[in-house]
Amino acid sequence: GTANIGVVGLAVMGSNLARNLASREGNTVAVFNRSPERTQTLVTEHPEAGFVASEGYDEFVASLAKPRTAIIMVQAGTGTDAVISDLVQRFEPGDIIVDGGNANFHDTIRREADIKPTGIHFVGMGVSGGEEGALNGPSLMPGGAAESYETLGPILQTIAAVAPDGEPCVTHVGTDGAGHFVKMVHNGIEYADMQLIAEAYDLIRQGTGRSPAEIADVFAEWNTGELESYLIEITAEVLRQTDAATGRPLVDVILDEAGAKGTGAWTVQNALDLGVPTSGIAEAVFARSLSSKRGQREAAADLPGPSGEWKVDDADAFIEDVRRALYASKIIAYSQGFDEIVAGAEQFGWDIHKGDIAKIWRAGCIIRARFLNRIADAYAEDPSLVALVVAPYFRDAVAGAQESWRRIAAIAAQAGIPTPAFASSLAYYDGLRAERLPAALIQGQRDYFGAHTYQRVDQPGVFHTLWSGDRSEIETTPSSH
Ligand code: NDP
Repeated sequence: GTANIGVVGLAVMGSNLARNLASREGNTVAVFNRSPERTQTLVTEHPEAGFVASEGYDEFVASLAKPRTAIIMVQAGTGTDAVISDLVQRFEPGDIIVDGGNANFHDTIRREADIKPTGIHFVGMGVSGGEEGALNGPSLMPGGAAESYETLGPILQTIAAVAPDGEPCVTHVGTDGAGHFVKMVHNGIEYADMQLIAEAYDLIRQGTGRSPAEIADVFAEWNTGELESYLIEITAEVLRQTDAATGRPLVDVILDEAGAKGTGAWTVQNALDLGVPTSGIAEAVFARSLSSKRGQREAAADLPGPSGEWKVDDADAFIEDVRRALYASKIIAYSQGFDEIVAGAEQFGWDIHKGDIAKIWRAGCIIRARFLNRIADAYAEDPSLVALVVAPYFRDAVAGAQESWRRIAAIAAQAGIPTPAFASSLAYYDGLRAERLPAALIQGQRDYFGAHTYQRVDQPGVFHTLWSGDRSEIETTPSSH
């Protein structure tokens, strides 16, 4: 074979990734799709790519130079398993199979373990940036054996997005499912970021009465400062759009029910399993669920809200408060997301470099933002940082924003504007910095109804109060429970 890389699955993502690969010096790209029509279309429309096309697996595998490297871009789930099985039957030890689909990392761990005995490398790779990213430069999060990255890394570096400092947005994230895990958390953070922006928009719209086009100007302005990011940029674009059919702002004719493909929910499910409070991400996922509960929303539409008029006196000051609240909440969302990465790495035995993750998210992916440089810096300064929010830069940023944050949370509650992500981020922040938490009472309650025991602040040991007896305290040992 002559091709140094192959792509299986030529729907939009696979086609674009194959074109991206073909456009780079030194690559010859083999392509294959289950239905030959897709292959024909791609090859016909892009003669400049010099694709080596195949109509069957035998032909495809034969077209690849050794060690063979193939990237699978098919429907996640059974589609991926089917293609893997066909490739494994034909590949040899040392060959590399990359799954670039949106796989659940648990599946990736399973697949890697299944394939390992064959000597073939299996790499689960997170790909972010959608169709556009796949074509022009995605952020790539490959997992799998470090050995496979020696072959794969140089190829991936040519197609990945390039950060402002010239570094390609790809790194070997960790073994087996690490890449898909990190991609999952990326998507969870994306949910939180989007929800926070949506809440900011809602507050400004309801608080100041500004039109979507006017609020687009606010976001465009924000995009020149510390909030600079792809999501802020596209928010301005969406808010500025006028519906051709009605002449109204597009945002006013779009049905207000948010969809989801599941990676946000995975992030929260795994956070629950790992015991990591990713409350900002969870609220963002739940806010989408709530928006889609049309029947309940209609039934609840006449429930009472706050009495009295709500009026913002100084619109500019209010908008600045919203901006700061957004920034502080965003710091919390990322802090929580990185906590989940740390917990996942610990649980699944991955050596993940947090700073490198922040770096490969600086371009190509949906959450790309100026702010990610700050995260990379924070982990570079202190690799054992216990939480992003306590790093000097972020500590100062939140300190500067917190009065605004509190005002906005209070105003939203008084005005009856739902801001679950703003509010939960603030509650998390206050929970984290609280000297004493009412968790002591929870422990008391647990001891009362379940004899779950508690520890004391003033002496070591494990204790239980004889609640149904004379209410004296006894010392017990943890092993007896
Ligand atoms: P789809 O998810 O729509 O999947 C269609 C492709 O899967 C077709 O090539 C189809 O082949 C192939 N396929 C499905 N089942 C099988 C099977 N049993 N055997 C062989 N091939 C099969 O394609 P997309 O391009 O939208 O996405 C590809 C992957 O990338 C998905 O995992 C998706 O989740 C992920 N993705 C990632 C995005 C990102 O931003 N990272 C954005 C969008 C998608 P056929 O033509 O024969 O039907």
